[in-house]
Amino acid sequence: MAYRAVFRCVEGCPGEWPLDEVIYECPTCSGLLQVSHDLEALKDKSAAAWIKTFDERWMSRVWPYGSGIWGKKEWVAPHVRDENIVSTAEGGTNLFWAERYGKSIGVEDLWIKNCGNSHTGSFKDLGMTVLVSVVKQMIADGKDIRAIACASTGDTSAALAAYCATAGIPAVVLLPKGKITTAQLVQPLANGAKVLALDTDFDGCMALVKKLAKEEGIYLANSMNSLRLEGQKTVAIEIVQQFDWQVPDWVIIPGGNLGNVAALGAGFDMMLELGLINKKPRICLAQAERANPLYRAYKAGWDTFAPITAGETEASAIRIGNPVSVHRAIRALRKYDGVVEQATEAELAEAAAAADRAGAFTCPHTGVALAALEKLVARGEIKKTDRVVVISTASGLKFTQFKIRYHESRIPGVVSQNANVPIDVPNDYDAVRRAVLG
Ligand SMILES: *Cc1c(COP(=O)(O)O)cnc(C)c1O
Ligand SMILES: [Zn+2]
Repeated sequence: MAYRAVFRCVEGCPGEWPLDEVIYECPTCSGLLQVSHDLEALKDKSAAAWIKTFDERWMSRVWPYGSGIWGKKEWVAPHVRDENIVSTAEGGTNLFWAERYGKSIGVEDLWIKNCGNSHTGSFKDLGMTVLVSVVKQMIADGKDIRAIACASTGDTSAALAAYCATAGIPAVVLLPKGKITTAQLVQPLANGAKVLALDTDFDGCMALVKKLAKEEGIYLANSMNSLRLEGQKTVAIEIVQQFDWQVPDWVIIPGGNLGNVAALGAGFDMMLELGLINKKPRICLAQAERANPLYRAYKAGWDTFAPITAGETEASAIRIGNPVSVHRAIRALRKYDGVVEQATEAELAEAAAAADRAGAFTCPHTGVALAALEKLVARGEIKKTDRVVVISTASGLKFTQFKIRYHESRIPGVVSQNANVPIDVPNDYDAVRRAVLG
């Protein structure tokens, strides 16, 4: 059976385009395209047979199935030939049982999906492996593509640069100057990307990279390009697989450009349609209060969405005021009985620190999701016995300055309830002893 996927307009205009065509928007309505799979073809295998296949491939040594993405290849990008796959064995990240933190806030069955334990330290690897593999195949098939480019709040550019360097494809990244962490800046530099630091914000970089893609034959890697969402959606499948195909009650995810919450919904959609699950989780999308356009729309009953200028937040990867995927995010949230919550700087910093105290090592975006969790538990929307998964989107190691400033009580407006700083001790046994026992 030949599996097949094509681009189609998300708004339902007629037409379909192959996944190796350079096209980002619907020619009729200029809306986004989505990857649409031939579900009838995928139904040639029963749900039980897909489960068996996915379980056999989990962490497999057989190329390319050891990757969490390519182990689900038929559901992601069936047209990519194995020789063109550019993979760093992404996916398959652990679920951390946040037992002590969960109990401290009133939930017993709390799990953190550690997507930051990945090649470039964020969940952006999940989608980038798909996009760069598709482009590698396009180049192999004779398409004229000079480079791949993206605008980024830090993690997309790190992933793009690493996968392009692995494949030998030139990468160009447009970053808002001074608004990403040192680690995030060093990553694309080390991987040899052309790095442009612009005197604007993410939304400004986005406008420019779109123009570059339109006019210069440079392939666009931002999430308006739906190929990435096909990889990102596997996080939903992995979570269910890691619970032996049981669906959690809640999934909480931080969001900026909002492609990932849409992808999360798409992953659950496919499992429902192909019969692997028969229950829906509820989804909570968490935003930083200073970059909260979706929260505002949610509070207004979804009817009006207005872009904002996003303010400065420690959760720099979600500092986005005009999210590209807002409409598909709203659709996904409505379908999964979704809620939107927000977190202030103090709330995200304290939640991140509290989880760290109980064994996690969270990035500020994960802090936003944890703060949202705390609010939902406090108002009884999440029950004590609910199984909750918080998607941790990046490694805390990319955000050490945030952690240092927290522990040194240097974040404005934050008390730092869990501050912990090194104790200076002279090179002397008695002094060491007093410090240890004191
Ligand atoms: C990209 C990113 C997000 C948000 O994903 P969107 O699809 O833009 O909503 C959250 N956290 C981190 C660390 C990210 O890099
Ligand atoms: Zn259209």
